[in-house]
Amino acid sequence: MKEPNQKRIAKLVESLLVELGEDPSRDGLKKTPERVAKSLTFLTRGYRQNRRAVVNGALFASGTNHMVILKNIELYSLCEHHMLPFYGKCAIGYISRGKVLGVSKLARIVDMFARRLQIQERLTEEIADAVMAETNAEGVGVVIEAKHLCMMMRGVEKQNSEMTTSAVLGSFRSDEKVRQEFLSLIK
Ligand SMILES: [Zn+2]
Repeated sequence: MKEPNQKRIAKLVESLLVELGEDPSRDGLKKTPERVAKSLTFLTRGYRQNRRAVVNGALFASGTNHMVILKNIELYSLCEHHMLPFYGKCAIGYISRGKVLGVSKLARIVDMFARRLQIQERLTEEIADAVMAETNAEGVGVVIEAKHLCMMMRGVEKQNSEMTTSAVLGSFRSDEKVRQEFLSLIK
């Protein structure tokens, strides 16, 4: 996917400012359209990344098939309904079949899907599917806890509500004991 046209986005943001009753020529707003274009391009860069390039062969042989857990992965995304941020933490667990993924790569996979317009449920599933596909794991579990500014700043204004979503694949889905182990380890 090609890079978004910065000038065109800036023009659109300028029109948006006018429509919202602002004066885009006043000092504080002069560079705002350009800044928003740059910022939105960054926040959606996941569209222009792919799994293969992100993982970049960082798979390592491992004799064991214990559960690997990475938790407290910071996550920032934009909800696709309001284009407002949601943010929180992600935990990933998987049981390898002899191949483990470099730790930083798990965080990169999270970012690749988070830096798009998302709903939390799909984000959770996409991360789980990607880890499964990359590692050929026996099972994968992903849990995301996030706060949504579209709920906190507007609408119902529930300041402290947090949404939790999970996706489980393979043995994490079929084996109750494995799932329980995962859930207790990420607490
Ligand atoms: Zn929303």
